[in-house]
Amino acid sequence: MGVVIDQNKCRGCRKCINICPGNIIRINDSGKAYLKRKEDCWSCVSCVKECPVSAIELKLSPEIGGQGGRMSLKTDGNVTEWTITRGNGDKKVIITDTAEANNY
Ligand code: SF4
Ligand code: SF4
Repeated sequence: MGVVIDQNKCRGCRKCINICPGNIIRINDSGKAYLKRKEDCWSCVSCVKECPVSAIELKLSPEIGGQGGRMSLKTDGNVTEWTITRGNGDKKVIITDTAEANNY
């Protein structure tokens, strides 16, 4: 699977760099984050959760039914907004609230 970083959205805050357990994200000369060694990403999603501007998306592989889609998320307190973008561009948004976790 792996992740992709949208250079247009990235603000260069370095939060993804600090959280990545594989130490594989770097900042380029334009102050934007990029994956130095894509093959070493094991899709732990830590950087996807950490990015404050949803610039990082998890690639959803065919093996899990993703069919070329991508997933990003935005967290505000207990509430997380998950955005799934399908291969054809259609979007689906799922909202979860950890305060209501026992209801899922
Ligand atoms: S998904 Fe995990 S391993 Fe891959 S770049 Fe993000 S934080 Fe690093
Ligand atoms: S956390 Fe997001 S905004 Fe910050 S450097 Fe990484 S990709 Fe860019």
